[in-house]
Order: sequence, then C-alpha cells, then structure tokens
Amino acid sequence: MPKRHAKTISLFDFMQQYPAEQDAIGYFEKTRWGDEPFCTKCGCAGRITPQKNYKKGYWCGDCRSYFNAFTNTPLEHSRVDARKWMFAAYLLMTARKGISAMQLSKELDVSYPTAWYMLHRLRVACGSDQEALSGDVEIDAGYLGGKESNKHANKKLKAGRGTVGKQPVLGMRQRKGKVKAMVVKGEDKKTVYNAIHAHVETRSPIYADDHKGYRGTGELFYHHESVNHSTREHVNGMAHTNGIESVWALLKRGFNGIYHNWSRKHCQKYVNEFTFRLNEGNCSRDTQDRLDSLFGAMPGKNHL
Ligand SMILES: [Zn+2]
Repeated sequence: MPKRHAKTISLFDFMQQYPAEQDAIGYFEKTRWGDEPFCTKCGCAGRITPQKNYKKGYWCGDCRSYFNAFTNTPLEHSRVDARKWMFAAYLLMTARKGISAMQLSKELDVSYPTAWYMLHRLRVACGSDQEALSGDVEIDAGYLGGKESNKHANKKLKAGRGTVGKQPVLGMRQRKGKVKAMVVKGEDKKTVYNAIHAHVETRSPIYADDHKGYRGTGELFYHHESVNHSTREHVNGMAHTNGIESVWALLKRGFNGIYHNWSRKHCQKYVNEFTFRLNEGNCSRDTQDRLDSLFGAMPGKNHL
C-alpha cells in the first residue's frame, strides 16, 4: 500500500476556513459539544439560551450560570479573539521547534505579554494524557539548560548527568508509540520508580541505561534491560535508548534555539508542548486533526 502523506494546511487556507470571529467560535463549540451545547457546570442541555452577543456564549436556566466553549479550559476568561487562538495554535503545532512569544506577538499583532500568556495557556492545553505506556518502553533523563553548542556532538545527548544548574527531565518513550516527560528533582530510585508506576503498564519491558536509579526495576514486575553507555555499548540488540535520546536532542535544540530565557518554574509546560507535538505526529497526522486533539483535550486542564 502506498504511504499516505498527512494533509497539511497552508496558513492562508487555514485562515480562509475561519474568515470571521463567529466561525472560529463555532469551531470551538463544535469541538466541545458537537451540535448541541450543554452546560459546563450542571451538564444540562435543556434550558440553554444563546446570548445576544455570541461571544458571551450561553445561559443555563437550570443552574443559572453563563458558560461558553472556553469555560473550564486554559483559554477561559481570555479577551483574545478566538481566531487569534486558532492562529497561535496553528503556529505552535506546525513549528517543529516551537515559536517564541516575540515572534507570536508580531504574527498576531498582540503585545508581547499577551503572546506570552497565550503560549503558556496553549502549553497547559498540551498537558499529558492519562493513558499508560505499554510494550517496549525506553526511559532516560535529559538535562536542560547550559551551553550545548561548544561540546562535541556525541557528548551532547548525555552531557551533564547530575550537573549543577541544569534541570533534569525524566522521559519515557514507548517504541512506535507516545512520549511522556516530566520535570523531576533527579534520577534517584524513588523518582524513577514512581514515574514508571504512574505511566507504564506492568510487565512492559523497560530499556534504560545502567544508572543506579534504573537498577532493580525488575522488582516492580517490569522486565528491565540496561545499556552501558560508559563502555560505548550504545546499541545492545533491543536494549538501546535511542528513541528517547532523540527526544532530548529535539528538546535541547528548541530550548536553546527558540526559548532562550525559559524559566525553571514553567519548564514542565515547555516540555508538554514538545511532547505533544511529538505524540501528535509532526508529519504523520493531518494538521487539522492535531489541532482538534489539542482543543478537544482542553476541558479540565484549566489550572496553571
Ligand atoms: Zn447549568
């Protein structure tokens, strides 16, 4: 069978699909409710009255409250036009390494603080799903921050294990599947075990390097295979961590190239943005499907 190529949309065509503010709001409503809006507070669909000003959304006669498509999502209470949200999400999803607030503020003609606020809320929307990884799972930590540019190429990926001043991020990648990554304090056993328990199905084979944090995962009903990086044994049959290491390579390029001044406080959100782009397939899924996934998964992720 010939390989199917994902349908990409040019920015021009994308904006043509949503020529007016009402079209964009219509899209968000349909993504949230389908054809019939129901109250986001009490769940009723019976006594719903659309407001005269469509931007205000609906009134629920049962619980006597207003709601709209953004209620209880990261985009709630925003004064930014729905079209600009769509445009921002398009840019964030299609730029492989992300987009800076400065760049976005120019593209959308909004202030820098508004662009910054929008990107952070979209990153919250990117937050990881609940589905556990299964099958062959690679686990490894990456360290973000610090100058990578003046290191030798094959040192970059693993550079700075435990280095002071860098932010450790623990990542897991299901081979031919999704990636999950979380900002952690370090690669100690407790952190690693908790993460595996929370995000990987038991009895999955786990591939990790021979760092002590990963030893003994077999006790947790996982089949652990280790890779000894210090003896150049990078690919030991199935036991390699190349998949997750390629994630760090991408993350580091984005962090160093686009987000020069990322803050530790918001690190998890940047990580979410990158893993979301990876999981939703940079090139194997249609652009519109990826945006639908992003906006469809927003309800309930309203905490910053
Ligand atoms: Zn209600």
